Amino acid sequence: MADESKFVEDLAEKDDFAQWYLDVVYKAGLADESPVRGCMTIKPYGYALWEHMQRAMDDRIKATGHENAYFPLFIPSSFLAREAEHIEGFAPEVAVVTHAGGEELTEPLIVRPTSETVIGHMYAKWVQSYRDLPLLYNQWCNVVRWEKRTRPFLRTTEFLWQEGHTVHRTEDEAEAETLLILNDVYYDFFVKELAIPGIRGLKSESQKFPGALRTYTVEAMMGDGKALQSATSHNLGQNFARSFDIQFQDADGQVKTAWTTSWGASTRMVGGLIMVHGDSAGLRMPPRVAPIQAIVVPIWRKEAEREAVAALVAEVEAALKAVGVRVKADWREERPGFKYNDWELRGVPIRIEIGPRDAQNGQVVLVPRTSRTAKETVSKDGVARRVPEMLQEVHQALYDQALAFRQSRTYQVQSYEEFQEILADKARLGFIEGWWCGDAQCEAEVKAETQATIRCLPLERPDGSGPCIHCGKTGSAWAVFAKAY
Ligand SMILES: [Zn+2]
Repeated sequence: MADESKFVEDLAEKDDFAQWYLDVVYKAGLADESPVRGCMTIKPYGYALWEHMQRAMDDRIKATGHENAYFPLFIPSSFLAREAEHIEGFAPEVAVVTHAGGEELTEPLIVRPTSETVIGHMYAKWVQSYRDLPLLYNQWCNVVRWEKRTRPFLRTTEFLWQEGHTVHRTEDEAEAETLLILNDVYYDFFVKELAIPGIRGLKSESQKFPGALRTYTVEAMMGDGKALQSATSHNLGQNFARSFDIQFQDADGQVKTAWTTSWGASTRMVGGLIMVHGDSAGLRMPPRVAPIQAIVVPIWRKEAEREAVAALVAEVEAALKAVGVRVKADWREERPGFKYNDWELRGVPIRIEIGPRDAQNGQVVLVPRTSRTAKETVSKDGVARRVPEMLQEVHQALYDQALAFRQSRTYQVQSYEEFQEILADKARLGFIEGWWCGDAQCEAEVKAETQATIRCLPLERPDGSGPCIHCGKTGSAWAVFAKAY
């Protein structure tokens, strides 16, 4: 019935992680290149994944009291200069519009790399009294950062994200907001939607957001032992409020400077989920955000068989749709083996095989993506109960495997030599936890010598202090070091 010569293209070995990653992105149909270097075209399958992620994240943003708004793409270039650390951090990667409408602009416009400045400008207008606070807004948009080295989803010149920006009356309220987003929005999202075990922590001074008082992060370990900063939440203190005159009259009649926060998570998370869960056969989609949760592969030889199979396929599809499962039947004129490989590459969590004998017996065969040899026969009446249950099992298996991998690649070393050995060994590369003296110079030396950076000072940490992993001076900061994307 089909072209026997058609095979799913091979992926690079996972050992060549960088090439394997690109193969998965392109061959699974998530994205394609772009005529502008460093940009990317997100294809429907990749965009559907993003939409499910976006929805799950947006629900959490709203459930924690925030509203969505939209701010302009273009920002007067003078705005960026108002916050000294901010311009230092972003100026090198900003795209500037100097001409428009056939004329040179009197003031160049920057394409937003992030929106603290333009939003700060608007907030100064909207905040007058303590009664106007807190202001809890978020926007979904694209931003542009002119990156030198790019990789689809992980680091692209233009990317999609959400950026939340809030204004508060007190420092305590701003800190509580920063942590609420870290815990109830980001961390919760990673665990429950993406099946990614994250590590929550504080960024060191050198790694924090330019202009922030404190930056909190969720860091995750990728399949090659490197770290990915997956979402960040910043307590901006009064830095931006001062630069943009966000002031309010408090209950005591005094005019005070407000406290602000900002927080963001981007299409980078798509890269993260590929690198955490992918295997030698391709992608493994976390079920809750998978565009297709169950793929039905009908199997038949003769036309007479096709009819009986088609009837059961339709029945199964209807039963699964009725319980909210995103199901699709693959009726392409290809061999079943080709379809199996193709959907494995695309990472669909469950495959449902239905052949003539199954049609006769009123049963189907379920195969979870996390254990491709574990075939399970289920009566057609049991499908609507068993498939949602199996989706949950796939989610749990992905989470457990990612956590076990992270634990197996997390070290507490006895010496700096051991630290260097691990970071130089591809087979052992991972996270190294230990005491740090807190000195930025010491941190910079570690980076220069090993390429590893402090990913975060984890919120969950041992008490006390100990000798710094690098210089040996007593330090009370507990740090996670790793090479990072
Ligand atoms: Zn040190």
